[in-house]
Amino acid sequence: MNEHNDSPDLTPPPGNSPVQPVKLSLDDTIQFQCHTGIACFNQCCQCIDIQLTPYDILRLKQRFKITASEFLAQYTLPFEMDNQGMPGVRLKTLEDSTACPFVTPAGCSIYEDRPTACRYYALGLMSMKHQLSPTDEEAYFIVKEDHCLGHLEPRTLTIRDYRREQEVEEYDQMNREWRQVVLKKRSAGPGIGQPSVRSYQFFFMGSYDLDRLRNFVLSDKFAEVYELEAATFEPLKTDEVALMKFGFRLLKQVLFGELTIPVKADALQKRATLRQQQLEPDLENPNKDYQGPVMV
Ligand code: SF4
Ligand code: SF4
Repeated sequence: MNEHNDSPDLTPPPGNSPVQPVKLSLDDTIQFQCHTGIACFNQCCQCIDIQLTPYDILRLKQRFKITASEFLAQYTLPFEMDNQGMPGVRLKTLEDSTACPFVTPAGCSIYEDRPTACRYYALGLMSMKHQLSPTDEEAYFIVKEDHCLGHLEPRTLTIRDYRREQEVEEYDQMNREWRQVVLKKRSAGPGIGQPSVRSYQFFFMGSYDLDRLRNFVLSDKFAEVYELEAATFEPLKTDEVALMKFGFRLLKQVLFGELTIPVKADALQKRATLRQQQLEPDLENPNKDYQGPVMV
């Protein structure tokens, strides 16, 4: 199974790529059906390359009733999403295998919480942001791998209906702001210089590690600088979707200076100090299970 694609690059894939070089929109029709009786059942889960999104991790850590740090340590591997070193995480395969750790003879054992990439397959999503445009654009493409017989099934439907069937809309809606952060960081290009290792550590925490993010938001250091109304602050203690979305706002504020979180009047000096500490998240209380991504 190929990963969900966020590349802003529309260059046609090489000749042997399973990605069909045709940009599709929501009302375009595809021919595809996957079902348990199909001869290739589970084939796509035997050789995986799945990039995880923040909401994928939230759903899975809640399913397993473990912390995000534990989930990251146990089930993922870090990788670099671009040539600047922006950290991403991939689902780890079974040891000495290319297979997904969640595939069983009866199918996917985490089906209700399967990642975005699994929901999209055999489609891919391409999010693009042009430098002069304030908004991003989404397009779809078909991924046709030889082993996948779903393309031969006699069912046609629009991409809009396929997304609805796979319940991918909720995932996209949850991750949309994060994708904007990723695209903005990429589209800034090398002109502003190589991002610091610390900024990527902060990006990692705000994107993937909800439990460290919660510790940070509830810390005295945070309270010294940010002025949150109780209606915003209280849900962050228990509501992980609210916390994840707040993390995206925090990323935009810290990485791009988009000021949507009120800062205390006397905090200018403190903020300069905190910025250093933010970019060096919770070093006093490092999570012992997770070593974090390898940074360059
Ligand atoms: S998470 Fe489920 S659907 Fe996705 S690759 Fe693993 S077994 Fe297959
Ligand atoms: S039809 Fe394609 S997606 Fe479905 S089980 Fe077969 S290989 Fe996987």
